[in-house]
Amino acid sequence: MKVLLATEKPFAPAAVQGIREIIEAAGHEFLTLEKYTVREELLAAAAGADALIIRSDKIGADVFAAAPGLKIVVRAGAGFDNVDLAAATEKGVVVMNTPGQNSNAVAELAVAMMIFISRGQFTPSTGSEIAGKTLGIQAFGNVGRLVGAKAKALGMKVKAIDPFLSAEKIIEGGAEPAASLKELYSTCDFVSVHIPATPETIGSIGYELITSMPKGAVLVNTARKEVIDEAGLEKALEDRPDLKYITDVAPGNAAALSEKFGVRFFATPKKMGAQTSEANVNAGLAAARQIVDYFETGNTRFQVNK
Ligand code: NAD
Repeated sequence: MKVLLATEKPFAPAAVQGIREIIEAAGHEFLTLEKYTVREELLAAAAGADALIIRSDKIGADVFAAAPGLKIVVRAGAGFDNVDLAAATEKGVVVMNTPGQNSNAVAELAVAMMIFISRGQFTPSTGSEIAGKTLGIQAFGNVGRLVGAKAKALGMKVKAIDPFLSAEKIIEGGAEPAASLKELYSTCDFVSVHIPATPETIGSIGYELITSMPKGAVLVNTARKEVIDEAGLEKALEDRPDLKYITDVAPGNAAALSEKFGVRFFATPKKMGAQTSEANVNAGLAAARQIVDYFETGNTRFQVNK
């Protein structure tokens, strides 16, 4: 089988080498397309591929049409909103993600962001400490749980909410279950967002929730920019000069927010939550193993378009 690694934003070289070794050891051919700049390059490279490993690369109907032999696409990472699942299913292509493989990298960034913004983005000013404060975790999945554990170790009180997890599961994961989203936002000094971008979550965090936060609160978003109602966020920061927003997924109005709100707002110039060499290796190798396993045994455990 031909396995193509197609990454606009390449993996660390050690990760690529590891992927190559797994694919070739299983008797498959390994091809790479890195740092491509035009879509035609992706379509041409995908044409003969049986399997595709991607990162945040957009995989739509055009790719499935250009690659008639494609059987499986693995998104090396957690979020898979960059893949058109309906188009994949229509063509009979299996789509998988590699859950949990980059979670620690993202969780460390979320914690770093809480400290960075609490200390005035490292400008010489009087900041505040995170110990003793309450952290609310919105979605208690792989990243959310790790953020909770790290925050507890730093002396924070941790609450969480997840519509797909029982209160018992949240307690087992080390957090206090919040009764509602409204309660989480209105009682936590920090809220860290870890929901996926889905039709239900897109634009779901807006003016009302944000302004329900206590005085001096911080909203941290390492999930997806689409889950925030950007106009609502901007108005909330205008009306509540005590609130702060820090994110790894820059909103469309980032320049305006920087200009207006100074050290109360920060967005990483490029999404970097999963951008560690450890996460690259973990997610890349997991993707390679899942492809080999799928071809050998038909294992679809991590399929997201079932
Ligand atoms: P995960 O799948 O382990 O956890 C997601 C959690 O969200 C689950 O517990 C699930 O029950 C919950 N959930 C699902 N649908 C929901 C809904 N409609 N409302 C509320 N909660 C819902 O994913 P994860 O690894 O913890 O990652 C969380 C998100 O972070 C991903 O979806 C991805 O978008 C984002 N992410 C960002 C980066 C980055 O580089 N900044 C890296 C990895 C993941």
